[in-house]
Amino acid sequence: MRWLLCAVVVLMMAGCAKAPITGRSQLLLIDYAAETAMGLSESEKIKQNAKLSSDVRLNARIRQIGARIAEASGEKKFAWEFHVIEEDVANAFCLPGGKVFFYTGILKIMDNDDQIAAVMGHEVAHALARHGGERMSMQMLGNVGGELLGAALEVPAQYHGLYTQAYGMASQVGVMLPFSRKHESEADQIGIYLMVKAGYNPHEAITFWKNMQRLGGKKPPEFLSTHPSDATRIKEIEAYIKTLQKNGVYKG
Ligand SMILES: [Zn+2]
Repeated sequence: MRWLLCAVVVLMMAGCAKAPITGRSQLLLIDYAAETAMGLSESEKIKQNAKLSSDVRLNARIRQIGARIAEASGEKKFAWEFHVIEEDVANAFCLPGGKVFFYTGILKIMDNDDQIAAVMGHEVAHALARHGGERMSMQMLGNVGGELLGAALEVPAQYHGLYTQAYGMASQVGVMLPFSRKHESEADQIGIYLMVKAGYNPHEAITFWKNMQRLGGKKPPEFLSTHPSDATRIKEIEAYIKTLQKNGVYKG
């Protein structure tokens, strides 16, 4: 028991990180390299199985917006990729480590580059803030319990099997699950900051979310199932923009 308590304390210290921009404390039991490797392998599978767009201009546009947003983060360790999947699905997502995918179905309901930048900022933010790794960490704690904690630090060899088992589980279900409301709200906040830093108009984010809300009728876009576009979300985004104006980050 005492050993376990020690392990927990050591782990809390080792696993404590802070989300960028917001400074929220996070518990990360998976290191960046492992998380990135999972995202990469998932991304390679998607690239093999999905129909990637061959539209040269569209691909260049998405890559350019993605590069501007990623550069605004000032974070150099991510190997960003920006892809377009040719499918009438109103969705976009980002895998851990920075592999971003937009469906043509969501692009056709966006009016301009600023709206693309709004969703790009949000998706890039999920990777930057390592929401995938955080979610997998929570799962490891939830599924396997205390004994796993030491193994996550690679201290006691006898637990390595358990760790691998949990780790496999996390990689299967952790990568593509929808994010929590807390992560969504943080991704919105970081996303707005990035789009402002990259020189895009953040008010277009509000226009985009309002458009999504309008589309939420008979056949709501898939993006809405993981990204509920409610009044609270829009109000929060408006508040972030005001904060950025107040502290001089956004001069619009
Ligand atoms: Zn999201």
